[in-house]
Parts: sequence; structure tokens; C-alpha cells
Amino acid sequence: MKVAFFSSKPYDKAFFSQAKEASFFDFTFFKVHLDVTTVGLTAGFDAVCVFVNDDLSAEVLAGLSDNGVRFIALRCAGYNNVDLSVAAQKTLKIVRVPAYSPHAVAEHALALIMALNRKTHRAHNRVHEGNFALDGLLGFDVFGKTVGIVGTGRIGAVFANIMKGLGCELIAYDPYPNSSLDGIVEYVGLDSIWTRAEIISLHCPLTPESHHLIDDVSIGKMKAGVMLINTSRGALIDTKALIKGLKSSKIGWVGLDVYEEEADLFFEDLSNQIIQDDVFARLMTFPNVMITGHQAFFTEQALESIAETTLQNLLDLKKGLECANEVRN
Ligand code: NAD
Repeated sequence: MKVAFFSSKPYDKAFFSQAKEASFFDFTFFKVHLDVTTVGLTAGFDAVCVFVNDDLSAEVLAGLSDNGVRFIALRCAGYNNVDLSVAAQKTLKIVRVPAYSPHAVAEHALALIMALNRKTHRAHNRVHEGNFALDGLLGFDVFGKTVGIVGTGRIGAVFANIMKGLGCELIAYDPYPNSSLDGIVEYVGLDSIWTRAEIISLHCPLTPESHHLIDDVSIGKMKAGVMLINTSRGALIDTKALIKGLKSSKIGWVGLDVYEEEADLFFEDLSNQIIQDDVFARLMTFPNVMITGHQAFFTEQALESIAETTLQNLLDLKKGLECANEVRN
């Protein structure tokens, strides 16, 4: 099977080429994103393998179908970038990697909480400059804090157990409560998350219902000084409302691994360019904001698992087998 990779990086090439099923495939790695301008590259391929910021809108799906592509393998969990109804019309089969390492993402959410709280990044720089003063580095005990978790699927559940281990009180919202968390979290309505939590961590998918879940209204209900963590999808947060909340000090701390306009920024070295996104640039000026560039998933275990599962998904499709990881409209 001929597979065209888009948005590929050296680590994708390394992990996919080493995977045990690799010999069944002929891989071509394109660095560019898949979009209307690059879909022409897919002529002659059976499948495309894409990532979070590739464009799988109606026009691109039509181009894939015209080029004879039959399978779309998402090497990620989320599929908010795919027009599922058009994919169904075009009989394009879509597979994803629903779970590769929930630990990787949950542990990164913890890393953001701890680094923000204890200002580890600033402390590191100070010590390197011979500045051992502690002023400005004051943090808080995470023990005993009320943590609100939005979405308690695979990642949210691991995160809940981590935070339980730190001695936090856990409240959660999920339309489908997770029975494995009985006795660990108290399920409440979203309003109670906003009004009660001192740390809020988002672990739900981006859907029309969850788009801009964090906006002026929800921020207005939050405790003053709340810490907000988003390792899920950028558009769960209305960034302009977030900036307002930071400027008024209603929001005390923000840790982001995702950003709603990240497609033009993340995964590239732009260190010699002028950042044109003024909203993102403003966000980076706050001393109480920490941003990482969608790296929560980025562990060896997760990359191995992504490669193995993606190739198994494609083999299942090729053999006409039922694939548990198929995404249907
Ligand atoms: P999952 O499907 O196991 O769990 C998602 C949970 O969210 C489910 O329990 C679902 O019922 C719940 N949910 C759905 N809509 C909701 C809503 N409106 N409010 C609250 N809960 C809602 O998914 P997962 O593996 O735990 O992943 C969660 C999200 O994390 C993914 O959708 C993806 O966007 C994101 N993610 C980010 C990275 C990263 O590198 N930053 C990596 C993997 C996944």
C-alpha cells in the first residue's frame, strides 16, 4: 500500500520506518500540510497519513477521492479537522489512534501545573544568572486544592488519578461519567466546575458543543485566581476572553499546550520570523502564562504506539476487516 504522509517530521519517519508492520507499505513523507494547495501530491497513493493541523475539509476530501485515495489514517486521536459527512459521501474510510498514551498527555498537564505554580522555568534562568533570590517565585501547595476536570475519558481519568495522588479534591463534568472513577471524583454540572474549582483542566474533544467552552460567561463564574490548563484542543477556549480574564486578574494562571490558531504556528521553527498573530503574541507577554507547542503527546511510548496502531488500522482496511478505530459519521 502506498501511503503519503503529510506534515511529517523526522521523528514520524523514524518511528513509522521502525514499526514492525512497515515492510507491508511504501511510504512517502511530505513535510507540507495537506490542504487544497497540496492535495495534488496525493495522485497515485492508496492512503494519506495526516496529523492534527492537516485540512480535511470538503474540497480536500473531493481532491483525495478524485486522485484515487481510499483511506485516511489520522495519526492522532482527535478528528475535528475532518468533514465526516463529505468523507462518507466520497466513501473515504477514516481511521484514527484513539489511545496511544493517555499518560503522556495527563503527565504534561501536571507538568504545566507544577511549572506554572513553582515558576520552575523562571527559577532555572535565575540560577543560571547567579540570581538566587526567591522574590516572585512564591507558589502554592497543590495538596488540598479543588481540581475541576472537564472530560473524564482516557486522558481525563489518568489525570484524575494523578491529581488524587497529590491529595486534591476532584470534581468533574462529563456527559458520560466514567465508572472507573467512582469514589475518586465527584461528578457535578459545568457551572459547579466554574464556581468551585481552583484548577481547571480540559480533557474533552472539540465539538460544536464544546467550542469556546471557556468564554466571557464561564470565566465570569470562575473563582478569582483560578488556574486554567488546556492540553486538549485550542478552540475549547475563546482566546480573546482568556486575555481579558488575565488582564483583570480573574484568571491567575494559564497553561496551554494547544491554541485555536495553532495551525499557522506550531510544529515549525519560526524563531527567525515575525509572529503575525497579535493575539498569540499578547498571550506570550503574561508572566503567569506558559505555552508549549502541542507536545503533550510527544513521548517515545506514544510515538511507538501511534505508528503501530496506524499501520495496523491501514492493514485492517486493506484486508476489508472491521477496524475498531474507524471513524464514522
Ligand atoms: P476520550 O474520547 O477517551 O475522552 C473524552 C471524554 O470527553 C469522553 O469521556 C467524553 O464523554 C467527554 N466529552 C465529550 N464532550 C464533552 C463535553 N462537551 N464536555 C465534557 N466532556 C465531554 O478522549 P481522550 O483520549 O481522553 O482525549 C481527550 C482529548 O485530548 C482529545 O479529544 C484530543 O482533543 C486531546 N488530545 C490532545 C493531545 C495533545 O498532544 N495535546 C494528545 C491527545 C489527545
